[in-house]
Order: sequence, then structure tokens, then C-alpha cells
Amino acid sequence: MTKAVVLFSGGLDSLLTVRILQAQGIEVIGLHLATPFQDPSPEAAQWAGKFGIEIVTRRFGREYLDMIANPRYGYGKALNPCIDCRIMMLRAAAELMSERGADFVATGEVAGQRPNSQKLHQLNLITRMSGLGGKLLRPLTAKTLPPTEMENSGLVDREKLFSYTGRSRTKLIRRAKADFGIHPIPQPSTGCLLAEKSFAPRLRDLLKRNPHPTLWDAEALRFGRHLWFDSRLKAVVSRREADGKQIVSHFHRSDRSPSILLTPENFMGPTVLLIASPDTEPFTDEDVALAGALLLRFSNPAKIARIGGPAEANLFRAPDAREVIQISPSGEAGRFRLIEEAACHCEPDGGAAETDSPEE
Ligand code: SF4
Repeated sequence: MTKAVVLFSGGLDSLLTVRILQAQGIEVIGLHLATPFQDPSPEAAQWAGKFGIEIVTRRFGREYLDMIANPRYGYGKALNPCIDCRIMMLRAAAELMSERGADFVATGEVAGQRPNSQKLHQLNLITRMSGLGGKLLRPLTAKTLPPTEMENSGLVDREKLFSYTGRSRTKLIRRAKADFGIHPIPQPSTGCLLAEKSFAPRLRDLLKRNPHPTLWDAEALRFGRHLWFDSRLKAVVSRREADGKQIVSHFHRSDRSPSILLTPENFMGPTVLLIASPDTEPFTDEDVALAGALLLRFSNPAKIARIGGPAEANLFRAPDAREVIQISPSGEAGRFRLIEEAACHCEPDGGAAETDSPEE
């Protein structure tokens, strides 16, 4: 039986690709790829269950960060190195193809659909650099491209492939519903933080200060407010309860960079993670005081006033090492600078970062 590996995100294009191949009697293995900035999609597993697709999930790690820091083909509108990323994905698919004895790789790419990676010359470049050559099939747009090995040999019936191009999805959606039983239609969101303009300043700042961040450093960018104090210290402050939980769980990872965690003890407020650059000394008492002042700065003053005594915080120098400390305001905390330029309320001299609404 002919077997194909399909890059399977769980979005409409990859799902339709799977269904087109299945309609030709081809067995499909869906390769579902996660990155430090894109989690596996629960929808992918749901569709796989519905249509009997075997899913193999793999996660890019360190090598993905190296690629992002220096992409050969540059970035899109945000900090999304889509061409390099697609090449990496296809190389992973080629590996799976040879591991599993599959005949070819297929993707849901459509010529001209995405400005950063699906112009015709970009598709050709991606094909060439992936090393797949004639073993890469794009069923949705195949009839606008030269026939592949699979079409020439009769392994795949070219007549049953398509010639979609451009950004409009109307015809794709109609076909997906009418001929391939896809309903409801998956949302087109990529779920990739790298494509979000508001995320780019955080990552750009991290790479500027640390060209070789660890996975832990990079994944810490996904939640909370990010503030830099100086070249040595950075803070992540939760905006809401879910952020706080993620920060605590991130601190519990064994691969964490030098960091301490502060949570309020006798009032409601945010969680503060203070991260030091790897080559520096352990945290000093001044650093701890600074983190405490920052915690107060992002807390609701009315709640602090109700304590009726000194504000206290739980200080964790390690996940299992808790001490309760008193914290107090300090003007130094005003030297923390919010990183997201778009949302930044810093004073013109780079001074105090005003809070958004204090955490409830
Ligand atoms: S949007 Fe993100 S996951 Fe998708 S190709 Fe671009 S960088 Fe890769």
C-alpha cells in the first residue's frame, strides 16, 4: 500500500490534504510538529481520531532556537522565519518517511496563499533545501506545479489533485465540506507566537542580550509581563492567575536558568520570577528586595493597605526551599523597564513602568 507522511497541523489545508490522499487509497501518517513557540494542537488529535489518521508528534528544541537566532532566509512581518522553519519541518518529515518506509511527503501548501513562505519561488526553494526533491507533493496546488515523481509513476493520480492558488479560501472550504466530510471547518490560526507582532519585541530583546538562550529562557517568554532591570537581571510578572500558575510551573523545571520566585504571602497579588544571566553570582539580598518591591508595584494598593502590617512574600530560591520574608517598596523597582514596546508606558527617560490594571 502506498504510504505518505503529511505535515499535519490540524488546520484546514493539512486536513484536506490528508483526505485527498486517503480518497486515493493512500495510507497517511500525520507528522504533527510543535516548537518552543507553538504547542501541539488538541484539534489535530480530534481530527486524527475522526478520520483514522496515525499521528506522530515531535517537538523541535534547541536546534529551533539556533535557527531563529540566525535564519538563513530572514523573517516575515514579525520574528517568524517561515522559510527556514518550513525547511526544518520538511527535513523532519523526510526523516520520518525513511524511518517508516513511506513513499513520499505531502503538505497543505497552496501557491500564493501566504506572503512569507508560499510564493512560487519560495515553494521551489523550500523543496530544494528540504532535500525531498520529487518526493514532495502539494495536492492542493499540484496542478499549478510540474508533476512530481509520484504523479509520473502513477503512484498518485494527478487528475484527482487540485490547482488552488492565492489567499481566498472560499473554494477550499466548499470542497472540504462537500467532498471530504470536513465539518466544522477548522480555524485558520497558526497558533505560532513567532507570527505575532506583539511577541517579537520580547524575543528580539532576549536574543540581543543572550544570543544563545536556553529552551527554558525562550519558553519563559510565553507568559507574564517581561521587564529588564539591567544587563544582569530580568523579571517576569504575572498578569493574571493563569500566568502565575505557568510561572510557578516553569520555575519547577530542572533545566531552569538562575532564578528566584516570589509569591505574596498575606495579600493577593502577582507572582514574580527574577532571572539572572547565567554567568553572574547568586542572588544578593538587594536582588531579593528588588523582586519584593516589584511584587508590590504590580499589586493593588488597596489590598496592600488592608493588610494592617508589613507585607510578606514567599521566597523560593529553589522549588522546595521556601522562606517568608517582609517586603517593602523601593524606588529602584521603577528602574525595571517593560519590554513590549507596543504596550510600554515607560517614562521618556526609561524610568518607571506603570502597571496595567493591578492584578486582582
Ligand atoms: S508561522 Fe511559525 S510555525 Fe508556521 S512556518 Fe512560520 S515560523 Fe513556522
